[in-house]
Amino acid sequence: MVPGATRAGMRPPVVDHGPRIGNRVALTFDADMTDGMLASLRAGRVKSYANMRILDLLEREQVPATFFLTGKWVQRYPEVTRRIAGNPRFELANHTYGHAAFTADCYDLPRLPVDELAGDVAKTFEVIAPYGGRQTRYFRFPGLCHDAAALDALAPLGVTVVDGDVVSGDPFATAWKPLVRAVLDHVRPGSVVIMHVTEANAAMTDEALPHILAGLRERGLVAAPLSEVLTGA
Ligand SMILES: [Zn+2]
Repeated sequence: MVPGATRAGMRPPVVDHGPRIGNRVALTFDADMTDGMLASLRAGRVKSYANMRILDLLEREQVPATFFLTGKWVQRYPEVTRRIAGNPRFELANHTYGHAAFTADCYDLPRLPVDELAGDVAKTFEVIAPYGGRQTRYFRFPGLCHDAAALDALAPLGVTVVDGDVVSGDPFATAWKPLVRAVLDHVRPGSVVIMHVTEANAAMTDEALPHILAGLRERGLVAAPLSEVLTGA
């Protein structure tokens, strides 16, 4: 069975973390992409929303990670997606098609109508699936914004909703030390750490990451794929 798959027709479960046993934690990286971000790339206002230094470091140190991909990010960065899918330590998960809000009042993100939510997430799985690798049925809402209506809308899809219990606070960060502190002060066995691989919108993440990895080692914690952290397997 695909990790995160649940019975279709049921309101999807929402998880923040795995069992608080053992020593494993999940490093998750969101790959947001909106039409506004695509316009910034086209206009040359922004160089990249794909932080290759993060991939280089994870690969060099052989660190497992899980990537929550938007469909538009995958379509903008097919070669990077291929590289993620080709790494047996990396899992692929779903972060909507264009990073719209699934509820009211979600960080000024434009909101999708409720009757379009399931289609948006289904389309994103269709965009990600051809890349193969370690596919999952894990889904993360933009801004972690969800309510009963949004969860019920996703019932046909058979997914598991993943929030996380350790928020790095990396979007629009201007210094790396607060990210390291935010993660290392809160991380515990079973934790799901939320970071971003969006470079221009999360420019300090690659600078913080080596220090986060060192801090995990000091605490006897080991990064593992999300599916293994959530199931305790
Ligand atoms: Zn996001």
